[in-house]
Amino acid sequence: MRLAAHGQQRLLCTLLIPTPAPTMTNANDHSPHHSDAASQRSSSTSTESQRLRINAGWIITMDQQLRVLEQHSLVVDNGLIIDCLPWATAEQRYSDMAAEDHRTAILMPGLINAHTHLPMSLLRGFADDKPLQDWLQNHIWPAEAAHMSTEFVRDGTRLALAESLLAGVTTVNDMYFFPNVTASVCHEVGMRATIGLIVIDFPTAWASSVDEYFNRGLALHDSWRDDKLIQTAFAPHAPYTVSKDPLERIAMLSAELSIPVHMHVHETAHEVEQFKQQHGVRPLQRLDDIGLLNADLIAVHLTQLTHREIERLAETGVHAIHCPESNLKLASGFCPMAELLDAGVTVAIGTDGAASNNDLDLLAELRTASFLSKALSAQATRLPALQALRLITIDAAKALGLNQQIGSLETGKSADCIVIEPDFGMIPIYNPAAQVVYTNSSQCVTDVWVAGRRLVANRQLQTLNAQAIRDSTQRWRNQIAS
Ligand SMILES: [Zn+2]
Repeated sequence: MRLAAHGQQRLLCTLLIPTPAPTMTNANDHSPHHSDAASQRSSSTSTESQRLRINAGWIITMDQQLRVLEQHSLVVDNGLIIDCLPWATAEQRYSDMAAEDHRTAILMPGLINAHTHLPMSLLRGFADDKPLQDWLQNHIWPAEAAHMSTEFVRDGTRLALAESLLAGVTTVNDMYFFPNVTASVCHEVGMRATIGLIVIDFPTAWASSVDEYFNRGLALHDSWRDDKLIQTAFAPHAPYTVSKDPLERIAMLSAELSIPVHMHVHETAHEVEQFKQQHGVRPLQRLDDIGLLNADLIAVHLTQLTHREIERLAETGVHAIHCPESNLKLASGFCPMAELLDAGVTVAIGTDGAASNNDLDLLAELRTASFLSKALSAQATRLPALQALRLITIDAAKALGLNQQIGSLETGKSADCIVIEPDFGMIPIYNPAAQVVYTNSSQCVTDVWVAGRRLVANRQLQTLNAQAIRDSTQRWRNQIAS
């Protein structure tokens, strides 16, 4: 998320709408009501009970030993992985099960995008190559203020999910306004999502006061509390846009409800410097004083870190989210990923929103992160490919508190998995993990399952209407450009 000066304060970001948009639909009309949410849930879980055997050329398990198995089958029942064994044995033992043959392909865990703003996909390419403040104040903010609505969030989320699923992403960690709409769309589609309960000091179209942010967020948390695929996280935007009182309240509620806190932290040098001038301490110190540095914190960007701060993140178990392409495009700085990993911090990768990236291609993002890490440390041996894959699978699951359910292909875990069928740009295969990380592998994703439910089959979206998304995106394009 981008940052820029606004009047006297360098406080606002692109997800902010300084005043409620006059075209706004009443948010209350779209808050998931208990009974509505419950009926939606029952309708979309009907396909999860299938029994399935997936035969793959390679299975990159991402288990503790990081095993890569050749000519193995993954066996799925009722949305869960129940076995992983050689083709021939699977054929005998599970002969009653339907078999999916991907014998020249790679099967791996579904990918986890650890930081994004899904609805902003409608602003992809709306304004590029401009100085940050001009881009924000003269392009992005006015567009958001003029067009933000529940419909914008709904259509933007559908577009983003279509792109994400076709690129192998099965879990998203989102932060945006109208999170109730984002949650509903993710649920309809069958996507696994952590939905950010946004909190910010300023009135926006979603809430007019800090209390209203909390009230709406907590109601949303309550609505989805027992859902299998949707979880919530507090999403205070950043230390410089959320003051001390609400942050203390979040620290208390996060512990009480056992939900994570998802926050932009130390995105730019200017932001850190200005905070220090105003408050006498760096933002991370403020968070530490409040008690927010702990294993529930998902801290995004972290391009400005001292050695001591890295040590402190490791001591407290904070999870770091690296968004290299957004940081590169906006010239925000470099997250010291290698140093964080060396210190023992769990690092995951996020794309950020499509307005600053400009895509949600998580495998491409990982390649950028990998190459940056090698280049910045002047060590080509940094982060071998199989280790790198941890950052968008098992370690990302840890960051979101979901590693008991997802992030690796192991018996007992949810069947969130993807098939990558190597095309000309990926062959020959000496090392499957290296081909996945270092080539344009997202273009070779053919099949995607979340909790055993098939969301992409042979490159076709199963729970989204591709033509309807193209049409609505074109309508938004015409409206926003006019
Ligand atoms: Zn962001």
